[in-house]
Amino acid sequence: MRVLITGAAGFIGSRLARRCLDEGFEVTGVDAFTDHYPPAQKRRNVRTLLRHPGFRLVEADLVTADLAPILSGVSAVLHQAAQPGVRTSWADGFSTYLQRNVHATQRLLEAVRGRPLTRFVLASSSSVYGDAPSVPTAEEVPAAPASPYGVTKLAAEHLCGAYARSDGLPFVALRYFTVYGGGQRPDMALHRMVEAALGRGTFHVFGDGQQRRDVTHVDDVVEANLLALGRPVPPGTVLNIAGGASTSVSGMLDLVAEVTGAAVPTAQWPEERGDVRVTQADTTQARTLLGWRPEMELRAGLAEQVAWQRQEDAAAR
Ligand code: NAD
Repeated sequence: MRVLITGAAGFIGSRLARRCLDEGFEVTGVDAFTDHYPPAQKRRNVRTLLRHPGFRLVEADLVTADLAPILSGVSAVLHQAAQPGVRTSWADGFSTYLQRNVHATQRLLEAVRGRPLTRFVLASSSSVYGDAPSVPTAEEVPAAPASPYGVTKLAAEHLCGAYARSDGLPFVALRYFTVYGGGQRPDMALHRMVEAALGRGTFHVFGDGQQRRDVTHVDDVVEANLLALGRPVPPGTVLNIAGGASTSVSGMLDLVAEVTGAAVPTAQWPEERGDVRVTQADTTQARTLLGWRPEMELRAGLAEQVAWQRQEDAAAR
């Protein structure tokens, strides 16, 4: 079975590609190596994948490429490509989000029409909820994104829904809650905390530091994708994927200090637009329908990320 992984050079996509290859799938990876963060990190993410005979990398932009040849022989799609991050989605940044999250998804959906796909998994986000009226938040809670990024992720879900209703697309959306682990994007808070603890700069705390995030180890996200591929869940199913330990920014700073053995230098900055107060997921549905549950304990997962960042840091010095 050949799967197409979009965003295969990214943080989650590259870990997913590695796992798919380990499971015996053939993988076509597509990535545009966008400069949201240094493409050099993405090149390192795919370096070992490229040595695997079952892996084929296509360097292309989903917004403009001819997608038919990329889809050749593909029987399932794991659509991870997107422009991530809340803060840069305001103002002029929005057009990039529109292109990479909405238009790219629509083009991919058109390209898979009429193909006998067994599954189309969309990487969605907790950002679709905004400041949810109830926590833990279940999938039934009406989506009300607090940022343009969240709006584009919700639009991608709705696009998949439209193709599911009109063409029977067997789609499942997985709403990831703040993903961490080795390979994490350098713009993400935990990455920047660890970086500061390793002596590179200061971590900027936006607001009072009491915002809480349900964090999810990347291996648990990868596992959810694999289960979504194989389990017979109804088309159009939307599932929360979250680690279950909702932790404040201050709590995370303490944990990073413990794991790295160094305090994190911080500076207080004003609250950011679109930064929600709390994310905490109800994952009953994923547990029931996929038989999924988060396995990685936060401290162990953080130790894995710190080990990776130490390695990257040593290589860069
Ligand atoms: P990432 O930026 O590391 O990976 C995304 C990859 O997609 C990048 O390598 C980028 O070059 C590629 N890409 C972007 N636009 C493209 C296009 N038009 N054509 C081809 N390739 C393109 O981000 P990530 O953290 O690995 O996120 C993966 C997915 O998970 C995204 O859909 C994101 O919205 C979602 N998500 C991530 C998190 C998280 O905490 N990391 C949380 C919720 C949802």
